[in-house]
Amino acid sequence: MAREVVKAVTCPVCGTLCDDIEVVVEDGRIVDIRNACAMGAAKFLHAQEHRLKSPMIRKDGELVPVSLEEAIREAARILANAEYPLLYGWSSTCCEATRVGLELAEELGGVIDNTATICHGPSILAIQDVGLSGFTLGQIRHRADLIIYWGSNPWDAHPRHLERYSAFTEGRWQPSMWRRAVVRLKAMQARRRAQRARGPVFLAKEEMPEVPPIPDGIEPPEELFRETRRLIVIDVRRTPTAERADYFLRVRPGEDFELAQALRMAVKGEELDVPEVAGVPTDLIYEVADVMMSCRCGVLFFGLGLTMTRGKLRNIEVAISLVRDLNAYTKFYILPMRGHFNVTGANVVFTWTTGYPFAVDFSHGYPRYNPGETSAVDVLLRGDVDAALVVASDPVAHFPRKAVEHLASIPLVVLDPAPTPTTALADVVIPTAWVGIEAAGTAYRMDHVPLPLKKVVEPPPGVLPDEEVLRLLLEEVRRLRS
Ligand code: SF4
Repeated sequence: MAREVVKAVTCPVCGTLCDDIEVVVEDGRIVDIRNACAMGAAKFLHAQEHRLKSPMIRKDGELVPVSLEEAIREAARILANAEYPLLYGWSSTCCEATRVGLELAEELGGVIDNTATICHGPSILAIQDVGLSGFTLGQIRHRADLIIYWGSNPWDAHPRHLERYSAFTEGRWQPSMWRRAVVRLKAMQARRRAQRARGPVFLAKEEMPEVPPIPDGIEPPEELFRETRRLIVIDVRRTPTAERADYFLRVRPGEDFELAQALRMAVKGEELDVPEVAGVPTDLIYEVADVMMSCRCGVLFFGLGLTMTRGKLRNIEVAISLVRDLNAYTKFYILPMRGHFNVTGANVVFTWTTGYPFAVDFSHGYPRYNPGETSAVDVLLRGDVDAALVVASDPVAHFPRKAVEHLASIPLVVLDPAPTPTTALADVVIPTAWVGIEAAGTAYRMDHVPLPLKKVVEPPPGVLPDEEVLRLLLEEVRRLRS
């Protein structure tokens, strides 16, 4: 039985992109995962069984298996005949595939959008307006002594973020007392085991050292109670992350903007002449502002709870302004918590290719960007697009009902490794290899650091990576249009 352990694998699930995963492969099957959280392990362990294996075309209302050549021909015919097609997805595939997708969108004169349009799109607009004090997660791991999560619950959504990069990690200049205590405890136990093993073999009985018994309950070392990193959580409900925080500010839903402005006033030394703001007592606002100003290095991670609630991009603008104010006193950074593993990569490739991060329209022969007009949901709600290509995404499960109704009424081509509600509505389905498991590529972590995705097992026979399928599609479209 051929057994292999593939090390330093990057997990293709969330924007944390943990790159220390070990995958145990036996006879071409993934049988075990090490270091991944439950979300990451589930994807690796079930990817090979929960997948599509054959291309399909809808005939007489039913999806029937066909050859890859026939599926590519039909998909190219649909896209080449369209006046204004939509190309959507791109956050759960590699940068190389997105690059070909942009070429295809330009060739077709269509509109291309990625999933940022329904998640951190407002954050991107705010960053374009007021800039961003950026950093890498490595810097935070080694230097930050104050971590803030605002409208984000990494304990559930990015399970290893706290442990690898922020509140619970061990950094070069920012130690984690928990980790030190565990390491010391393990070393002590190992020493005792070695002493016991050595004694009977090399020493006469009377020379054997006295081995102290291991106590039942081990007293935690004193330094555990010393203040190290501090964690602040701002959210509308007490999440599991908030349970572990030093400060939890429960903000009234839809009033994040007011709270951020109040924090700015406190940082600037102005008086808040009210007992509370957005449900948070004024005393607590002053205390938290003081903690922010007196840290050595702080970071504000924000999630959809800030960017997709009332105020949207204005919330992010004021959060960035708060960080800018704090930089008058100390070092402070801010970063969005990105969800899909390569949504940052999709924004990066869109930007370096067209100048714009999402919602790019090629219908005028050059890239045009006007979110609200050229974004996927808007072109569907207005009924502008007459065909769609969806790559590694499931808009049927996430878009508003009216947008999905239009998507269902136009010819739809889907490239995806697994069955989804979107593949169930499609006219052409082409299975592709799981990027990061069955195909290699590049993805960008949430802090814009590019990381390699490894191929650890072979895809089923005849199943190609997204990039290759898109190249075949582009060639066929060019042939039909020439
Ligand atoms: Fe994968 Fe995210 Fe879990 Fe890391 S935290 S193992 S990237 S799902």
